[in-house]
Amino acid sequence: MHLEGSCHCGAVRFTVEAMSPVPFMHCHCSVCRKTAGSGGYAINLGADAATLKIRGKRHLGRYHALIREAGKRARRSVAERRFCMRCGSPLWLRDPRWPELVHPHASAIDTPLPKPPEVVEAALDFAPDWVDVPKGRGHVHCATWPAESLEQWHKRHRLWSAA
Ligand SMILES: [Zn+2]
Ligand SMILES: [Zn+2]
Repeated sequence: MHLEGSCHCGAVRFTVEAMSPVPFMHCHCSVCRKTAGSGGYAINLGADAATLKIRGKRHLGRYHALIREAGKRARRSVAERRFCMRCGSPLWLRDPRWPELVHPHASAIDTPLPKPPEVVEAALDFAPDWVDVPKGRGHVHCATWPAESLEQWHKRHRLWSAA
C-alpha cells in the first residue's frame, strides 16, 4: 500500500510502500509515551525501507532511546527514531536488526489507513494508571509485546499487501 506522510509543520514529507499498513498494535511503552505524546496510540506500521522517499531531510532529528532496567547500566537502543526538529512530530523508526524495514508512526500518515479488525494493546506492563486501556471484544491485552510479528499478524488476517 502506498503511504504518504508528513510532520505537523510540513517541513518533512515522505512516501513509502507498506506491506503491513494496518494500525493494529497500540504501544504503551515508556519510550513511545514520552517521545510520541502517547497514552497508547503510538502505532508502528511496517514498510519497505528501500522505497522510502523523503523531502526536507535537513529537518530530521534522530533519537536512540536510553533503556533503563533495574539493576543494570542504562544502554542506548539500537533502534533509531526520526522526528521533525521544527515541530517535534515523531515520524518513523528503523532498527538495524531489520534493515529492510522502516516503521512509520501511524500518526504521521496522511493516507487513510485500514481500520484493524482486532487491536493488540501492547506493553501494558509500562502503561501508567491514568491510561484508560480499551478492553472487550476486539482488544487483545499483552503485558509486553506479542510473539507474532507485524508480518505474521497481517498474513493471519489476510491483510498482507506485498507486491
Ligand atoms: Zn515539522
Ligand atoms: Zn513503544
